[in-house]
Amino acid sequence: MLIFKKRNDLKTYLKEQKSNGKKIGFVPTMGALHEGHIFLVQSSRKENDITVVSIFVNPTQFNDPEDFKKYPVTIESDIYKLELNQCEVLFLPSVEEIYPEGEDNMEHFELGYLETVLEGKFRPGHFQGVCKVMKRLLNIVEPHNLYMGQKDYQQCMVVKKLIELLNLSLRLHICPTFREPGGLAMSSRNLRLSPGQKESALAIYKMLVFVKKGYKDKNFNELKEIAGNLLYQAGFNAIDYIEIVNADNLELLEKWDKKTPLVAVVAAFMGDVRLIDNMILTNG
Ligand code: AMP
Repeated sequence: MLIFKKRNDLKTYLKEQKSNGKKIGFVPTMGALHEGHIFLVQSSRKENDITVVSIFVNPTQFNDPEDFKKYPVTIESDIYKLELNQCEVLFLPSVEEIYPEGEDNMEHFELGYLETVLEGKFRPGHFQGVCKVMKRLLNIVEPHNLYMGQKDYQQCMVVKKLIELLNLSLRLHICPTFREPGGLAMSSRNLRLSPGQKESALAIYKMLVFVKKGYKDKNFNELKEIAGNLLYQAGFNAIDYIEIVNADNLELLEKWDKKTPLVAVVAAFMGDVRLIDNMILTNG
């Protein structure tokens, strides 16, 4: 695997590969790689000649500086996992390399409603940071195909919107959420959970399955109240939101009209670790 730290070196290398007709797939990550990330790498490897993975803990998308400080870094084992999965290129830039002009006075992206709800509401500025880094990374890699996880449902919608705003010609592939055997969605933040907390955190998945079973018959407010209690009983100490929303535009809904595609979304704290997850409800 080739490892690039400088954006210009990577750009030059990829330009040459593209001029030789090679197809480029891109998997942006913040490292602490798990099987969910590796699934994205494998998906990209199937459909492209060269897969570029980036590992960059992006400071501009952390609204909570403590969360940024505590974000797990496991670079050696990340490189090992990528080598094992025959990833062709790793991009490992410094903050200065991505933000040479500093992190202030930056462009604003018109995300509209998308950044006023759910993650946007509870993590002010988060999606602006996601757009800042994605714009830069996409500019450097200029991939044919981009691979992201449904685990970050709203982020996928934001990046889709960014691709439209920037008028980029690439295909966004949204890959299903990879889960631990009990159903807990894999996440780099799970590394910060104790074994007991990890066990308790399974309640998120169980709660989503419960909502999926009940959404056709129950009023959503009633359903959300029971869902919240399930999390508190399992040991979650705070819930940012549990919502049932239109899967196409994230409109918050109170009941089902029997045709709108639905996704249930949740963000909750186990100790000081904030976990998010979601489940499509209307896919059978
Ligand atoms: P992160 O390193 O958490 O920023 O994630 C990098 C990419 O991996 C994003 O597109 C995530 O949505 C995706 N991802 C994270 N966790 C999972 C998972 N459990 N299953 C599938 N994709 C995931």
